[in-house]
Amino acid sequence: MPFLALGLSPALVHAAGELGFATPTPIQTEAIPAILQGADVLGAAQTGSGKTAAFALPLLQRLQDGLAADRQQAPRGVRALVLVPTRELAAQVGDVVRSLAQALPQPLKVAVVFGGVSVNPQMLALRGGADVLVATPGRLLDLARQNAVQLSTTRLLVLDEADRLLDMGFAEELTHVLALLPPRRQNLFFSATFPADVQALADNLLHDPVRITVEATETSEPDIVQRAIEVDPARRTQLLRHLVKEQGWKRVLVFVATKYAAELVAEKLYKAGIYATAFHGDLSQGARKQVLAEFKNEQWEVVVTTDLAARGIDIAKLPVVVNYDLPRSAVDYVHRIGRTGRAGETGLAVSFVSAATEAHFRLIEKRQGMALPREQVAGFEPSAPAATAAAPAPAGTGGIKGKRPSKKDKLRAAAAKGS
Ligand code: AMP
Repeated sequence: MPFLALGLSPALVHAAGELGFATPTPIQTEAIPAILQGADVLGAAQTGSGKTAAFALPLLQRLQDGLAADRQQAPRGVRALVLVPTRELAAQVGDVVRSLAQALPQPLKVAVVFGGVSVNPQMLALRGGADVLVATPGRLLDLARQNAVQLSTTRLLVLDEADRLLDMGFAEELTHVLALLPPRRQNLFFSATFPADVQALADNLLHDPVRITVEATETSEPDIVQRAIEVDPARRTQLLRHLVKEQGWKRVLVFVATKYAAELVAEKLYKAGIYATAFHGDLSQGARKQVLAEFKNEQWEVVVTTDLAARGIDIAKLPVVVNYDLPRSAVDYVHRIGRTGRAGETGLAVSFVSAATEAHFRLIEKRQGMALPREQVAGFEPSAPAATAAAPAPAGTGGIKGKRPSKKDKLRAAAAKGS
């Protein structure tokens, strides 16, 4: 079904085409007509499903209708508010909304605010209101307290990645923000998962919503090839360098356990002739933005990061993700590998496994309902075969929370010691 059949204006269909969106994704097919009709929407969908355009396109169309009257009624007001958990996602969503809005006959004002940067330019940007405001909750509240933003006439609210918003401890901020909004408004609620607190928030917020579920497996699983390579911890950087060169990997996102490791691994790779840099929470917002932009432009072959980059960040055409250090949990594993194989692209997710982390990886596999064959790369064979050892993960990789060696693990460890 083409975008036009969903009820979008030709200008917005054209704008979608300009971004390379020829046919709508499943969530777009379901969400766009419902949002255009003014319904509340509850979307169970992950980043990668096309959910941003699923709300941005109809949101922009709805704003166009009645825009002049709205502006006259509340010249300093915000007409649509999109709440997101992180600065990166705010910038990303802001970019999509801006690109789409450019195509509209009446120009729309799109503002983006988040913490960690100076508040003054954001206050200036919000003078005279905004048609769309994309914001993280903390900074939005700061601005509201300083009277720099007016939400009493907001017609449309989007909560993007609601589970992450709550995960990051924004529950209280959300309550305060919701109290500033008028009771009559359209609510669009997106979340990848629905634990009890997220469900309760959705129940509280939404009125008779249209429910849309996009199975994560439908979009991500078939596109990502997962591999596990056995290697001694001390040789991981060399193996990574070897793989980048030998496999001709052009853009690789490498996950490590700590910011320090991110710096260290990036530096070692760089010295070994690979264009590698680190990306983590200690970098300034400007530096993070720059690294992402340069990575997207293929100026970096490898970006080494912590779990900061595991969620929400969308780097189109990212072919390879490497778990240099294993993630702490199966959920983090899913988020990490989900950075690749997005929007129909194929992706490769490689995990480095050692004797010390084998048991930890097996647990991740079990939670994922999969069992990957262990591979070895010639010249990088581990000194102790990982599959026979079952020691708990070392502190650096952080064991799965609550994981203790099972009876079987202990027996195996004892057998390994005795042999
Ligand atoms: P999202 O789930 O919004 O983070 O989008 C994931 C990726 O899918 C982004 O790279 C979008 O540019 C891309 N995308 C969104 N909608 C479409 C579409 N209809 N056709 C192709 N790609 C899309």
